[in-house]
Amino acid sequence: MGRIFVVELEGRCYRCKFCETHLALAEDLISRAFHCDRGKAYLFSKAVNVTVGTLEDRMMRTGLHTVGDISCCCCRHIVGWKYETAHENSQKYKEGKFVLERHCLVGESTFFSDISIRTPSTVSPSVSDVEDA
Ligand SMILES: [Zn+2]
Repeated sequence: MGRIFVVELEGRCYRCKFCETHLALAEDLISRAFHCDRGKAYLFSKAVNVTVGTLEDRMMRTGLHTVGDISCCCCRHIVGWKYETAHENSQKYKEGKFVLERHCLVGESTFFSDISIRTPSTVSPSVSDVEDA
């Protein structure tokens, strides 16, 4: 096995839940409207630190797609899939894009806008941050 080269992303990013490896940037998030077997999934234009598995044709809710499972290059957990080819014209925008399963991700909770933001009681008293000039 060769050395694993891990890319560190700059800025707000989503990480692998299992090993905290950076997987995708929040700014590359295209859609939160995707679904996987276990719940929500997000579509990203790019993902890093993932390896694409064997491609196969899969019939999905939106038609036939050629996809490959993507797994975290560090812990090998499958974290989503990549659309290689979309066979329906209306779905072509997904080609070359990555879906990451929500339950495999951690991110800053403040930008998971689909969950209600509630201040946990365990949070430490807020400290005043450095103000922007
Ligand atoms: Zn991982």
